[in-house]
Order: sequence, then C-alpha cells, then structure tokens
Amino acid sequence: MTPKSFQQIDKFARDLPKEVRATVYDGSKSTSEKRYDSIWRDYPETADVLRETAGKVKQHTLEHLDQYLEQAEKSLTAAGAKVHFASTGDRANEIALKLMQERGVKKMVKSKSMVTEETHLVPYLEKAGIECVETDLGEFIVQIDHDHPSHIVKPIMHKNRRQIAKSFEREGLGDYNDDPETITRRARVHLRKKYFEADCGVTGANFVSAESGRMVLITNEGNARFCMAATKLHIAIIGIEKLVPRDQDLSLFLNLIGRSGTGQQLTVYQQFINGPKTPGQPDGPEEMHVIFVDNKRTEVLASECKEILRCIRCGACLNVCPIYRQASGHAYRSVYPGPVGAVLSPLLAGDKFPELADLPKASSLCGACNEVCPVNIPIPDLLLCLRDKGKREGAKNASAGTPPMGMYAMMASQPSAWKAAMRLGYAVNITPQAMMNVVPAAQAWTSVRQLPKWRGGKFRDWMGEHDKDAK
Ligand code: SF4
Repeated sequence: MTPKSFQQIDKFARDLPKEVRATVYDGSKSTSEKRYDSIWRDYPETADVLRETAGKVKQHTLEHLDQYLEQAEKSLTAAGAKVHFASTGDRANEIALKLMQERGVKKMVKSKSMVTEETHLVPYLEKAGIECVETDLGEFIVQIDHDHPSHIVKPIMHKNRRQIAKSFEREGLGDYNDDPETITRRARVHLRKKYFEADCGVTGANFVSAESGRMVLITNEGNARFCMAATKLHIAIIGIEKLVPRDQDLSLFLNLIGRSGTGQQLTVYQQFINGPKTPGQPDGPEEMHVIFVDNKRTEVLASECKEILRCIRCGACLNVCPIYRQASGHAYRSVYPGPVGAVLSPLLAGDKFPELADLPKASSLCGACNEVCPVNIPIPDLLLCLRDKGKREGAKNASAGTPPMGMYAMMASQPSAWKAAMRLGYAVNITPQAMMNVVPAAQAWTSVRQLPKWRGGKFRDWMGEHDKDAK
C-alpha cells in the first residue's frame, strides 16, 4: 500500500512486513556506521571542513549556473559531443527517443540515473517499442520485479537475498540460490549479453566539470562503463545542477561521495569522459549526446530552498533518518525518498506542490541529515520553510497533524489550558497502563512506551514560592 498522505505514515510503517522493516533498518544503519568510520578515521580533524568546502563550491556553481552551463557546452562540443537542453522531463525523453529512432535503435542498456527515474524514461521508451535493460544490479532487480526503487543509492534496500533469489528463479536465471556471490555472477552473465546486443547506452553523470566538459560516472559494478563503451550511441541525461567549475574540484567530491554513500574511500569504478571515441581508440561510443535537464530546477534555484540543489545524491541523509529507517522509501510516494526527497520532491512537483506538501512533515527535525550531508545542506531549515509554504498556500495535508499534536498545539498556545493540563499530569501518571491503552489517541504512544514515574512537586508552585522569596 502506498499512503496518500504522510499522516498515514505510522500505519504504513506498522503495516510493513517485519522482514522488510528489518532489512531497511539494518541496511541503512550499517551503511551509516561505515560512513562514520570512513570519514572520521581518515579526516579526524577536517571532516567538517571538507563538507563545508564542498557545500560552498556547489553553492557557488549554482549561483553562476548560466555561465558554467555555457562553458560546459563549449567544452563538450569541442571534444565532439553534441549538447541538448531540455526544459522538462518530457522534452528530455522526446530528445532521447528521437535520437534513437533516427539511428534505428531497437535495444538500449542503461546505468542507474535518478534524473531518468524522474522523467520516467524507461516506460516512455518501452511504449515506443525500444527494449530497455537496467544494468545496475539493484535496478535490474527492481525492473524484473516491476517494483520501484526505495533508496537513491541502494534501490533494493527493501529486499533481502531470499526474495532476490526467488525473483531470479522465477525469471529463469538459475535454480533458487540465495548466495549473494552466485546472484551477482548470474546477473553478470545475463547482462553481459545485453551490452553486446544493444545499439545505445544511456547513463546519467555524477558530476560534470565545466572547465573540461569531463563527465564523471561512478559505479561499483562497472556497468556505466559497459553501457558506454560497448554501444555505438551514448546518451547522457544529466540534471543541470550536476556541474562543478573545475577538474580539480572533482577530487573533493569523489572523496566525499563514496564515503558518504557507502563508506568506501572511493567507489570501485570512476569513468572520466568528455567525448566520443577518437580515431584510433579501440572502443567507446561513436556518437555522444548530452541532454542537460532543467525540469523545474531553475524554479527551485529561484526559491528560498535553492540549497537543496547542492545535493550529490549520496543517500547519507536517508540512511541516518529515523523516519526513513522505519517507513522505507516507498512511503514517500516520489522518486526521491528520505530527507532529501521530503524537500526536493514537493519542489520539483511545481503546480502539484500541494499533493506532496505533507512530505516535509516526515521528519523529527533531529538534524542528523544535516550533520551527515557532504555538501552541508541545512535540510531541517528547508523542511521548516516548506512546512510554512504548505500552510501559506493552504495545502490541506500541510496543516494540523495528528489529533494528539493538534491538542498539544492548542494547549501550548493557551496558558490557562496548559495550566489545567499540568494539573492533570499526576492523574494521567497514576492511570494503569492497561487503561491508557484503550484511549485511541494515546494508544500509539502508550502501547510501546512506559510513562516515567511521577516524582512529586509542581514546578509552578515551586516557582511561585521562590518568586515571593525574591521579592
Ligand atoms: S541531501 Fe546531502 S546527504 Fe542527502 S543525498 Fe543529498 S548530498 Fe547526500
């Protein structure tokens, strides 16, 4: 079940099969721990300096995006690539399809790219009769299961190896075997054929240097490299915010993205590409097209939440978020889940903002997302800003909250009601737990928590006494 609003998040999380919840919780927790070790072991003195510097570089790039896009276009064109600009996701899909149709492409292989999830490229191309194969192992499993990714780095965070083994068996990829190495080897054999059959490879890019036009693709499976090198036509579909000014900036970001996303010092494969193959080169695409996608990014850039465009899609904020860990990514009803999604998805929704105006409420505002973000995005501030926007724009799902919180808000804003409620504290405390559990509004809390023991004394009386003494 996908919840219609985050007011159902609690139910959604509780309805998740225990196995799924445990898988998501363990997967995100262990990745967070690896991130912590990898960053603080190697940069005990400067970890925060790195994050702040990376944040400043990205912010500077965003503030001069027009210049850097022009520079990147020139650099890429000089290296033999053809650059296109798409104002919307639909337009990006149209450009990609036209390029394929003009060249008679029938089969395409694709590496993981969030922006193509955003534009729904694969269903669009499949509708036009082009066979599309996801080559990232996680995305491949999502594809054969007709599922949706639940994490931006680990799309199958919600699945365990037994479920995957069953999917492989069902798809004729071997008898049931849940050994991860066997699963990976089988996927590799299957996908290897697909690379050679394909006429086109589609990728995103993690970064693009405006200085040289160099695109950087990072993977742990080497699949982006195969998509590009084994096919004649390479189409890179890239969000305009992926630029960095210079080649030398890349070392900072590559250092941070692997550590933040998976706790690796560097991801296993790093491709630096800035054009199709040149005469004499043994492999690589004969033609390369780069499609820079806006799709509401310039609107976000003009908004009070523009810092979210610094995001390098590492997934660290998801892994550390207590809401994500309980609810999993599908609860966010959008391509981008977790804290980054709670900010980015409503903003990218444009006119449909009210439909996702509840997402910014999916946060305890604990601040953990900001602490781990490698580009120092003040996510809790942006969440508050969007909650406010939702209220101002009258989005129904942005207001009120659950009945207990509504009651709390009423009490906290009226001193007499607050005073009366404080007097009730003792009575509530001595009420047996079993009786509390039958009050529907209190059930969600009391069924899993014990109230602390009443220690006696009333702060207001105490304060009154001391106030008198002071006089
Ligand atoms: S918001 Fe920060 S932590 Fe979250 S995915 Fe983006 S870069 Fe990573």
